[in-house]
Amino acid sequence: MNSVLTSILIMPQKIIAGNWKMNLNYAQAMTLADAIAAGITGESSCEVILAPPSIYLHDVLRRIGHHDRISVASQNCADREPGAYTGELSAMMLASVGIDYSIIGHSERRIYFGESDPLLARKVDQCFKYGILPIFCCGETLDEREQGVQSEVVERQLRQGLFHLSEAELSDCIIAYEPVWAIGTGKTATPGQAQEMHSLIRQLLRGISDSVAERVSILYGGSVTPATAQEMLASQDVDGALVGGASLKADDFLSIIQACR
Ligand code: PEP
Repeated sequence: MNSVLTSILIMPQKIIAGNWKMNLNYAQAMTLADAIAAGITGESSCEVILAPPSIYLHDVLRRIGHHDRISVASQNCADREPGAYTGELSAMMLASVGIDYSIIGHSERRIYFGESDPLLARKVDQCFKYGILPIFCCGETLDEREQGVQSEVVERQLRQGLFHLSEAELSDCIIAYEPVWAIGTGKTATPGQAQEMHSLIRQLLRGISDSVAERVSILYGGSVTPATAQEMLASQDVDGALVGGASLKADDFLSIIQACR
């Protein structure tokens, strides 16, 4: 096949992921899962991933299991094998109930729970050991952006947390660029700022191989709403979004999915 055809056929999957964080009671979570599943029509070709709190993972999975366009992610997983680690949730356990993805390295885990790059690399390894695909988050703080070191920060996070994987494993990862200053603040990065960082991430992936760069979906996260989604998702290297606040309202989340064409 000629290279033009190949590059037309191999493109990162468009993905909209919803991170429910530590929100919603059981009834609210099930209602939201049902409303999202009912609202996804054949029109959009993007994959949808829901990341409910751990205690709801299994029931959300059972409710949306029939839906071929929705997958379920955990918001975290342990960096070690099952054993005497009170309160932890292992990748083996997630896999055993049918979870496909795990968010790894969300800035709230890095900041509030002190998760370091080497720890995140171990979590990523646990995911692959049990067939869970990581949604690996990276992004700079406001302070780091003001100092102009955002590219170095993101590159370090990727090199230390993710780039030890084999090419085949890396190709199966999803990367989420989430500037910390834009998460839950209502301050979205401009499409230009997002594209600039996504293009840098794509270039880093290209340094590993063209095929990895062409396969890995790079999502933007940070106060994405129905009002901002279309413009953000139109950028060349933005393959989708990781959505926090707006994923808690079915109508808003469905509008963002609609914007992903
Ligand atoms: C997130 O937590 O991943 C996120 C992007 O949150 P929000 O959309 O609320 O900024």
